Amino acid sequence: MKCAKHVIEAIGVCAYCGRGLCVECVPANSGSRLVCSIDCAETLSRNDKVIQSILNKSLQTAKASAFYCYLCSALSFGGAIAAYYTAPVPFLIWFAAGCGAVLLMAGVWYSRVAVADFKKP
Ligand SMILES: [Zn+2]
Ligand SMILES: [Zn+2]
Repeated sequence: MKCAKHVIEAIGVCAYCGRGLCVECVPANSGSRLVCSIDCAETLSRNDKVIQSILNKSLQTAKASAFYCYLCSALSFGGAIAAYYTAPVPFLIWFAAGCGAVLLMAGVWYSRVAVADFKKP
């Protein structure tokens, strides 16, 4: 592959636009990734920030969902206990307890998603 500007062999491609880059084209302070211009470098870092903020948002959503599930789970268990004392209908008690258990599992799953997301580099 040849450089986009010069007639010599490219040493790499721009991480953003994919243009061929030779030794002369790569800016001295381009960082870890090869970019053909300041524009590409800026767009690239802006995209990184957007992705980062989306990841953070999904992390928060997972945390919020986990919290919501735990809360509903606690309410369902509370309902099961209340039903046990006030209206001893086995179906009602088991139904509420079952909902509580399912929500608890969902909460655990969401927390694990949040933790897994957090551990990503
Ligand atoms: Zn470029
Ligand atoms: Zn070049």
